Amino acid sequence: MVIRMRHTRAHTRNRRSHHALKETSLVACTNCKGMTRPHHMCLSCGFYKGRQVLDLSSLKVARDARMKAKRERIRAESGVTPTAAREEAPQLSAGEVKEEVKAKTARKTTRTRKVDGASSAKTKEEN
Ligand SMILES: [Zn+2]
Repeated sequence: MVIRMRHTRAHTRNRRSHHALKETSLVACTNCKGMTRPHHMCLSCGFYKGRQVLDLSSLKVARDARMKAKRERIRAESGVTPTAAREEAPQLSAGEVKEEVKAKTARKTTRTRKVDGASSAKTKEEN
């Protein structure tokens, strides 16, 4: 079977030579001196051509209030007060976690010991 539509490596590479992404060019904002895209409003202060076109600070305040209200609504719906949640799931320090792991491994070893004890008990009965 002949691959009729096959391109040579040179053909493929020649095509892909134009696929690289260009580095984005940035200019300094005239108001806050931050880097922003040319011919675009500054995303940190909302200025364009020396004029405020969007009040980003008030939008941020409104967004923060909205998010806070949402957080409180979720908390109320779940019926868990923040203090109760903390008491239910106490934060363990690294040392406490290690102790817990030790306790778990100790439980495992006691299981094996029980088996050993049973076998030793058998041996005692045999004796
Ligand atoms: Zn700016």
